[in-house]
Amino acid sequence: MAQAEIGLIGLGVMGSNLALNIAEKGYAIAVYNRTTSKTGAFFENAGELRERIVPCTRLEGLVKAIRPPRPIILMVSAGQAVDEEITKLRPFLSEGDIVIDAGNANFHDTMRRFGDLEGSGLSFIGMGVSGGEEGARHGPSIMPGGDKKAYGRVKGILNAIAAKFDGEPCCAWLGAGGAGHFVKTIHNGIEYGDMQMIAEIYGIFRDGLKMKPKDIAKIFAKWNEGRLNSYLIEITASVLDTTDPKTGKPMVDLILDRAGQKGTGRWSAIEAQQMGVPATAIEAAVAARSLSAMKDEREAAEKLYKRKVSLPEQKPLPAGDLELALFAGKIAAYAQGFAVMEAASREFKWKLPMPTIAKIWRAGCIIRSQFLDTIAEAYKAGPVTNLLVAPSFVKMMAEAHPSLRRTVAWAAEAGLPVPALSSALAYFDAYRQGRGTANLIQGQRDFFGAHGFERIDMKGEQHGPWGGHG
Ligand code: NAP
Repeated sequence: MAQAEIGLIGLGVMGSNLALNIAEKGYAIAVYNRTTSKTGAFFENAGELRERIVPCTRLEGLVKAIRPPRPIILMVSAGQAVDEEITKLRPFLSEGDIVIDAGNANFHDTMRRFGDLEGSGLSFIGMGVSGGEEGARHGPSIMPGGDKKAYGRVKGILNAIAAKFDGEPCCAWLGAGGAGHFVKTIHNGIEYGDMQMIAEIYGIFRDGLKMKPKDIAKIFAKWNEGRLNSYLIEITASVLDTTDPKTGKPMVDLILDRAGQKGTGRWSAIEAQQMGVPATAIEAAVAARSLSAMKDEREAAEKLYKRKVSLPEQKPLPAGDLELALFAGKIAAYAQGFAVMEAASREFKWKLPMPTIAKIWRAGCIIRSQFLDTIAEAYKAGPVTNLLVAPSFVKMMAEAHPSLRRTVAWAAEAGLPVPALSSALAYFDAYRQGRGTANLIQGQRDFFGAHGFERIDMKGEQHGPWGGHG
């Protein structure tokens, strides 16, 4: 076999599938895994693709097997493992070689790694990959950022393995430094928001309407044919429709209500806070996962408060509203996620291509949906400060927000938690309120701390006549 076009380190769930995807698209690939037995097993199971796979048990061998300048994808656990592998790899690399971290890195780590490699002659690419196991194998959404010249060396391979939407690859260079990993982080933050809001609507069906999982599944399946059409709605219907083969009960009823998280949602909320961008629906979704982990405390509190769901009297569950309520919540969450990316783009001078980001999320990734095409169109139509004020979104939100309002109000009266949906509604109401209530906050701040305020009827910093209390 001629030299490999690319190398890959880390044959876990994502790495092994990505390697098969690359080989399937006709590129020879050299692979290495820390636990070498996995490399052998991977090769043995690769079938016909073996002819384009070079299994390597040493990093030196991996590097030698690749055509220079050598692109090497790291698909190992995020954090320390990435630094360890780069350190071990460096002695074997030459001028122009390209290290590509394709894991879920914190973009601050990516920026630090750029700094570490500066002046070394090596290039670095921080690349978000979304789509899970299936996406990695058959077409993920790929979000590379970093060295643009080095991207030219791998662009063809990445476009070939990426998911396609209307024939367009869901892969694009997004900017310098940590741009790719930042965009992946926000993708995951939006994913948290989407999933939480879907779970809240499920809660209304389950605890408000007392519906069975299979019946709820039918509704989600129907919604998947309309404006909510998306991968997450599709798999929600499938999860709800699945029966446990051991007990014959609905699978979802047997799953412990304690959700895991690996950090990207939390990073989205932290970065939003750092930049002063409200991302309340995403923050609420992250907090909801943390609350879900407090199972024992929740159970104790339920007993203390003798909790029961009390359906609001004389007010039917707005079942017809739920689809639109979810849609309105989704609009607010996406508006927030895109606003965070706009702010980061300015702060880090990335010039993030917002319409392109919407486009490369249309297929392959976990939040893929028809809706992302609508977002891409809105950006194409003109500059967007916030999706909530993009003309096409104003129309959609005007139609949808009354349903969100009725749903949140009904859930609040019933005692059903809808933290992400209610945060989305509060964000929308605050965002479209021209005269807010921060005038009082400014008065309070001046009163206790002489912080000063602006008046609406004169220029310059002012202080209040607080009678010597200021
Ligand atoms: P995984 O199945 O747990 O595999 C982890 C890989 O990292 C294994 O190859 C492991 O090697 C290697 N590794 C761990 N620590 C190492 C170290 N200190 N030095 C060298 N190698 C080390 O993980 P995964 O799901 O494929 O995830 C890989 C990356 O992709 C992560 O950053 C993850 O967040 C990201 N990601 C995952 C998904 C998903 O759906 N799973 C989606 C998008 C992105 P050994 O075999 O020797 O342990």
